[in-house]
This record gives sequence, C-alpha cells and structure tokens, in this order.
Amino acid sequence: MATVSRRDFLKLTAIGAGAIGVSELGFDMAHAYEVRQQLRIAGATESHSICPYCAVGCSLIAYTRKNADGSTALLQIEGDPDSPVNEGRLCPKGATAMELANSNRRVEQPKYRAPGASDWQTVSWDFVLDKVAQHIKDSRDRTFVTKDHDGKVVNRCDGIAFAGGAAFSNEEGYFASKVLRSLGLVYLEQQARV
Ligand code: SF4
Repeated sequence: MATVSRRDFLKLTAIGAGAIGVSELGFDMAHAYEVRQQLRIAGATESHSICPYCAVGCSLIAYTRKNADGSTALLQIEGDPDSPVNEGRLCPKGATAMELANSNRRVEQPKYRAPGASDWQTVSWDFVLDKVAQHIKDSRDRTFVTKDHDGKVVNRCDGIAFAGGAAFSNEEGYFASKVLRSLGLVYLEQQARV
C-alpha cells in the first residue's frame, strides 16, 4: 500500500476541502487543477537544508530545476513544514535566503581595501588567506603574554579575539576552538551566545 507523508496528507486534505467549497460556488475544478499543474515548482527537485543565519537552525526546502545548458536554477526556498524546529515557518531573514544565491548584489569574490585606500579591489582567495595568516601572526607576535603581573606563566595571546558563526557544525566549532587555543587565544565567543 502506498504510504502518504504528513505533508501529502495535509495537501490532499486542503485540496479536498477547497474542492467542496469552490464547487458549491460554481468554479471549474478541472481548470483549477490545470492551473495547479503550472506552478513553477511543479516537478522541481526538492532538497532539504538548514538556514545558515542563526542557531535556531530552521529547516528549509530548496526547489531546483536543471536548465537546458546543464546549469541548475534555484526556483524557491521555503520553510520545511515537516521540521519540528520551525514547522514551515521562517523569520524575515530566513525567508530571504534565496537572495543568498540569486541576488545581483551578491559579492562572489573576495574584496580588499588596502590601508589608506578608498577603493576596494577584487583579489584571489589565496591573497586573502595569506593576508589573514600574516595578520594573525603579526598580532600574536606583538601581543603574546608569557607571564602575568604576578609572574605566573600564562602563555596567552591577548591581541586577537574570535567569534564563531551560529551555523557552525559541532565539528567546525571543535576544530576552531582547538586551533585558536593552540595559538593562545582566550577570547573565544560564539554568535549564538551573543
Ligand atoms: S529562519 Fe530566522 S530564526 Fe530560523 S534559523 Fe534562520 S535566521 Fe534563525
């Protein structure tokens, strides 16, 4: 026997209830069904994901379809009604998640503004990673404290702080804290606690 998911059941119930109501009002249900088939997400691939913005971790469904040229078009992102976390709802920020992929204002390459410069220049990821690594080393060398005022050995880096993103997985958070504590950082914070 075919199984019906909770979402399918709700859809069928809603369609059934709608059919009774509109038939009584004299609407053409065959035409309504045809219109429903033309939904832009009809037949689209449904992928489940999680909103990247905050620690609530609302579930999303992304609808995609292959273009003729082989690329993938993102048609829609909406809250997942089967999620026990958000039950289909999204806050205004999560509801705009589609803009992360589709906005024409999205910055797709790293930008760098040199000290004293007024303009941003597009640079490579290698350039940025080298720059960050160099700044971390310079700051650590400059601010590393081996002993406190009482002469106790502390070996800590007072000059760098780190704030983790709420979309970190457990593994990413674990990895970041291990790497940063190995450099002597003591000011570690997490967006979800702020
Ligand atoms: S939809 Fe809003 S509340 Fe949910 S995870 Fe995203 S930002 Fe947080």
